[in-house]
Amino acid sequence: MINERMHDLGAEPNKIRELFAYGMARKAEIGAENVFDYSIGNPSVPAPDAVTEQFRIQLAKDPVIVHEYTPSPGDPTVRRAIADHIRDTFGIPATMDNVYVTSGASSCIAITLAAITNPGDEVITISPYFPEYKTWTENAGCTLIEVPAETPSFQPDIPAIEAAITPKTSAVIINTPNNPVGTVYTRASLEALASLLQEKEREYGTRIMLISDEPYREIVYGAEVPYVPSLYEDTIVCYSFSKSLSLPGERIGYIYVSDLIPDARELFTAISGAGRSLGYICAPVLLQRVIAQCLGIPSDVATYEENRRILCKGLDELGYEYVEPDGAFYLWVRALEDDAVAFSERAKDFELLLVPSDSFGATGWVRLSYCIAKDTIERSMPAFAKLKEAYA
Ligand code: PLP
Repeated sequence: MINERMHDLGAEPNKIRELFAYGMARKAEIGAENVFDYSIGNPSVPAPDAVTEQFRIQLAKDPVIVHEYTPSPGDPTVRRAIADHIRDTFGIPATMDNVYVTSGASSCIAITLAAITNPGDEVITISPYFPEYKTWTENAGCTLIEVPAETPSFQPDIPAIEAAITPKTSAVIINTPNNPVGTVYTRASLEALASLLQEKEREYGTRIMLISDEPYREIVYGAEVPYVPSLYEDTIVCYSFSKSLSLPGERIGYIYVSDLIPDARELFTAISGAGRSLGYICAPVLLQRVIAQCLGIPSDVATYEENRRILCKGLDELGYEYVEPDGAFYLWVRALEDDAVAFSERAKDFELLLVPSDSFGATGWVRLSYCIAKDTIERSMPAFAKLKEAYA
């Protein structure tokens, strides 16, 4: 009666959520101020005032219309507003026919994978990676092929990706700015990846779609974040407002299928079919209309940048090794022993909640989400010092 695969997935521990739950319990036990919770990527800055104001404006409208169903790809006025924003921001053609509104990046990627793959295909991603890529890929009946990033840069390792591509490769998922490392892929890296995929498409006579997962596009500390569809025709953008507008629990994002894709219309139809098959009737209507009025509102990057500065300075002084992040709000720190799970457990002794890299398909590191109060970061430094001493 029960689907075993789904049961196993439901029972599978999610380290990030486990650590987050542990932190909640621990805070209740010893006081929130005594727990240094670097576990989860919940934005710590409030949604911009203009967003809150839009909720009020939208809710004051005709209550029937406020809560109505929209067409599956989204309210046409919302799709048009997003398309205009894409065109004006990235200088690339876009109309409402290129935009499918979703419940966040998660549904963007699940829908896209269902739309562009067939069971038995292979999907490549660069490790360390956002763990749900594996869930969504396997749900589409495909295999996720993990290709480690080049070190120490954590940029895509082009020769390694080349070696991993086979005639069964139907997609490559990239995420820049990156969770969990904080890297922003350079234009040169993306151009090299684009050339490689074109070359492999020619060699095998296949299509390789590039899925660009972009929830952190605006959270960047000065680095350029090239628009991937301008570099590689067969790109599908999966965008989310969860982080840029601090709306993670509201569930809103969009898929952009550019007309540069030769069969864009057919692909869009498949995306509509995939959304339908996965039970997404339409994205939350209130959120659709709120974000349509808030496109281009800047994220509060300064707060994250200050957190990054304090955290990096503190860890520098203590001699921790980490990857200098150019974007997102994560710091990738070298564990002080090979076993990152054991290191994360040891850190708990000092009330430090650090996610082991094993959760992201890599060994020997931990991820710190620094989208937390600045004061927590400052007060956590003695705990990091004690953790270091414990390994002296
Ligand atoms: N992709 C990456 C890399 C993420 O970090 C997240 C969330 O943390 C998601 C996708 C899912 O985002 P959403 O809340 O828009 O579903």
